[in-house]
Parts: sequence; structure tokens; C-alpha cells
Amino acid sequence: MAELDNLDVKILTHLQGNSRKSFQEIAKACLTSVPTVKSRVDRLLELGVIRKFTIDIDNSKLGISEAILIVNAKPIAVNRIAEELLGLEEVKELYVTSDSDAAIISRMAGDMHRILAIQDRINLTDVNNVRIMSVKTPFRKDTTIPLASSSITLTCAYCDRKVTGDAVRKKFDDKDYFFCCNTCKAEFEKKYMKLLADAR
Ligand SMILES: [Zn+2]
Repeated sequence: MAELDNLDVKILTHLQGNSRKSFQEIAKACLTSVPTVKSRVDRLLELGVIRKFTIDIDNSKLGISEAILIVNAKPIAVNRIAEELLGLEEVKELYVTSDSDAAIISRMAGDMHRILAIQDRINLTDVNNVRIMSVKTPFRKDTTIPLASSSITLTCAYCDRKVTGDAVRKKFDDKDYFFCCNTCKAEFEKKYMKLLADAR
């Protein structure tokens, strides 16, 4: 697993919020230099931590429908059907489950007529049952990484020591910062306020 430090996590948080944010903006918010941000992003890409830079489109504004597809199929056919489905542009996510009644579950998005015609578009041999449920209201939790999770090594934004135990979190200018203790938080706050005051 990739070891990320505080700066990596901060950069990821900025890019998750807006993948078009410039290195200049990120560097400024992280109190670091543009080349540092660039080399960190390059490393995160190299490590595969960042898979791609993408955009979040509101499908409903484009008249795109979403549906959940559940396929019950004989075990022998599951992989073949999954492959076939993955070839369809409407298939956005696909899971092969351990449930024999719902061997394949997929989220689809696109033209509803084409989604509903799925049974004509795949080979139905060994398929027992296909269900298509139109999505009425999609609720999505964002994919923000759980920053408080123990798998990420956080360093205190003030003293730079490794944070052991619960980090103290504080938002400055809408960005999350993590501290090892309340004293560091208070000191950072002083420094940050002074920086802000100087900038004015
Ligand atoms: Zn500290």
C-alpha cells in the first residue's frame, strides 16, 4: 500500500473537490511550491493512487436515465455475461456477486429505450432472469477518501510529527488540516491568521 503523507492527502483532497484546480492554487492553499505539487501529483499517478482525472456530470440535466440491472444466471455463464455487459456503453459499474439469485448487478446510464432492450443485446443462454429497475433518485456518497482512517499516515500540519491516535481536524479557508494536538492547532491558527493578515 502506498504511504501517503499529509501533503499528498491535502493535494488529493483538493483534486477530488475539483480536478481542474491548478497546481498554483493547490500550492498556495497547501503553503508549498508549484514544483512540489507537480512532483507529488506525478508520484501519485505513478503509484496509481490517482487513476484518472475525471468530471462529474449531472446525467439528469442531459436527459440520461439510470437503471440497476440484476442478472440471475447459471454460474458457468456469469463471466461471459459480465464480459458482454462490460462491452455495452450503458454499463457504468458492474459487480459479480456471491448471491446466486443476483449473480451480476450493474449500474447503467444512458438512453432508457436501449437499457430496456438489454435482453436483445446480450446472449441469454444460461440466463435465468433479468431485472431492470429504473433509478428514481440516485443518492451518491462522494468518493472522498476517509482522511481519518488509520491506513493513512498523517503528519501534524504544525509540528510535522506523525499523528498517532485521533488527529485534531480543523478547517481553514474551507480546507481540512490535521494536528497532533490542540496546542499545535492553536499555534497553527495563530500562524495562519498572521499570514492572512500579512497578505491583506
Ligand atoms: Zn503537532
